[in-house]
Amino acid sequence: MLPKELLERLVVPPGKSRVRLDDYDTGWAQTRELEELGKQAAKERAQDMLRQNIADLSDAQELLYASSQQSVLIVLQAMDAAGKDGTIKHVMSGVNPQGVQVYSFKVPSVEERHHDFLWRYAKVLPERGRIGIFNRSYYEDVLVVRVHPGLLDEDTKAKSFWDDRFEDIRAFERHLVRNGTLILKFFLHVSKKEQKARFLERLENPKKNWKFSAADIAERSYWNKYMEAYEEALAATSTKWAPWYVVPADHKWASHAVVADVITSGIRGLDLKFPELSPEQRKALENARNQLRAE
Ligand code: ATP
Ligand code: MG
Repeated sequence: MLPKELLERLVVPPGKSRVRLDDYDTGWAQTRELEELGKQAAKERAQDMLRQNIADLSDAQELLYASSQQSVLIVLQAMDAAGKDGTIKHVMSGVNPQGVQVYSFKVPSVEERHHDFLWRYAKVLPERGRIGIFNRSYYEDVLVVRVHPGLLDEDTKAKSFWDDRFEDIRAFERHLVRNGTLILKFFLHVSKKEQKARFLERLENPKKNWKFSAADIAERSYWNKYMEAYEEALAATSTKWAPWYVVPADHKWASHAVVADVITSGIRGLDLKFPELSPEQRKALENARNQLRAE
């Protein structure tokens, strides 16, 4: 388990009127304890923790599935190359694929644009017992479209346009939580410098060339606008019922360890129980057993 003090620092406090991303480390030095360990030792510690959390997450997911009372929605947001895909791959590596659904949201289709902005996400929410991962999410509708308002059919000039969307998102999440969904939201916080290094790696390593898209460079030039949009979105939508975690993402081992830890403790905190059999069900089992034995 990660030190509680560290996790608390990664949560965006609900009700905060202003969030500054610069206050959140993209590296891994948020606690003195880890800083003192040194990078190599911190990395090894994080990897041990990840292994343990992957095993624990597998058990937690089985219980979630068996009890079928609650669902888990994991929202992953980040700038390009911050490691969303790798986080999903590593953190979910131990869980039963039947219990997890991953949705990667791209530019909306015409049909999707002709509905309200939450429509396409609401259609694929996880049912009880499942973990749903949104690789990008309805937050794109207050991020990329805020940076590029031309993407929207609506007129975004009205003063309250974005505040209205934030309010809709808070209400949507509140509704989901009241109906048995645990929502965990992660912003993988990568530095501009590390993004450059990862883009260069994609360009220079033939095995990674396929990951590169020229559009990524164009988006990078809007970096500051994205940071502002993220800051506003995080401040407006980190709530008691659906908090945001700002995850240091310059080291992949750090982001994987943090995300796995938060998900595992989140599911554990639900205090789920394996279903108990009623006296009738018990009797039915006994009858079945007797019948098989008598064959
Ligand atoms: P990767 O690049 O690692 O494969 P990705 O999530 O960046 O993963 P892409 O296909 O590169 O996937 O990009 C998807 C694009 O779709 C992003 O630029 C994102 O901003 C855009 N997008 C997602 N949702 C919306 C939306 N609601 N409105 C407009 N654009 C969106
Ligand atoms: Mg991309």
